[in-house]
Amino acid sequence: MHSCSYVCDLRHNFVQPFDGCAARIWKISLGLPQIGMVEVSEKWLEQFAESPLALKSSGREETIIRIQNRECGVDLEIGGGEFVIMAGPCSVEGEEQLLTTAEHVRRNGAQILRGGAFKPRSSPYAFQGMGIDGLKLLAEARRRTGLAIVTEVMAEEDVPLVAEYADILQIGSRNSENTSLHAAVALTGKPILLKRGMVATVADLLHAANTILDHGNPNVILCERGIRTFETATRNTFDVAAIPLIKMISHLPIIADPSHAAGRRSLVAALARTRGAAGADGLIVEVHPHPDDAYSDGDQSLTFDEYERMVSELEPWMTARRLTQMQMAGALA
Ligand code: PEP
Ligand code: MN
Repeated sequence: MHSCSYVCDLRHNFVQPFDGCAARIWKISLGLPQIGMVEVSEKWLEQFAESPLALKSSGREETIIRIQNRECGVDLEIGGGEFVIMAGPCSVEGEEQLLTTAEHVRRNGAQILRGGAFKPRSSPYAFQGMGIDGLKLLAEARRRTGLAIVTEVMAEEDVPLVAEYADILQIGSRNSENTSLHAAVALTGKPILLKRGMVATVADLLHAANTILDHGNPNVILCERGIRTFETATRNTFDVAAIPLIKMISHLPIIADPSHAAGRRSLVAALARTRGAAGADGLIVEVHPHPDDAYSDGDQSLTFDEYERMVSELEPWMTARRLTQMQMAGALA
């Protein structure tokens, strides 16, 4: 009986208040991992032994990162019960592009605005980003919308400048092994979004996280963005197993990036749903008012309508996650 009403709710994308029993049915139906219930084999612990600070231990089961910017009304948590959405263009291209995108994603579930001002590109002739002007536009978008800002820092010498504007500093996949950059961002004390390198193993990712933690910065958010394999039909291969694995062994939150994994906008919403169900703490997704004219990553950027649809499709999963967390915290017992 309960299963039927659940299916019906999903189809109509409508969520009712639940009692503890209904919450259990949601959890079973969606197969959400029970975050916090750890059964880690000794072999795994050995495999990740080089990164002890990133691993769970007694008294360090879960890191919840608080992002606060009082002036702009930013106050949120990553790694707690909420599924956090970071959305925005690949690159900051100009005022209208950024502000319209910020307003749109703000109205549709995002808490954090993404946008690159310093862009790592495969070609030296491709758009390299607006630099400081891009950072200023991000700050203006934050002032107008209350969204927190995540933006990439590529070079050690830019760390103080980017840290002046960003709420979260992004380390891109091309810098996943750049330990001196990891040390420099760690010293800012700001939250760090650490992307998995294209050819990095889970152990490599945790190792990079360990470097930041070891430099006294506990605010590390991991990001699974797909890895290179022999498959060429998608830009990268989405490593879904990495998410529940990391949730089991590490206390750090993990965000999923379906845009860079897919490389095509038609796959992004489906990957986002899979990643939500795999137990990620949130998403980072590229959105552009006119993706075909984007200066970078247009093929994988969602239009405003596509973004809105993706978020409404995720609603039941986000609610299920929230209920699972509440139940585990005993709130629904
Ligand atoms: C980006 O976020 O736009 C980006 C360049 O990501 P990655 O480092 O994962 O390629
Ligand atoms: Mn991009």
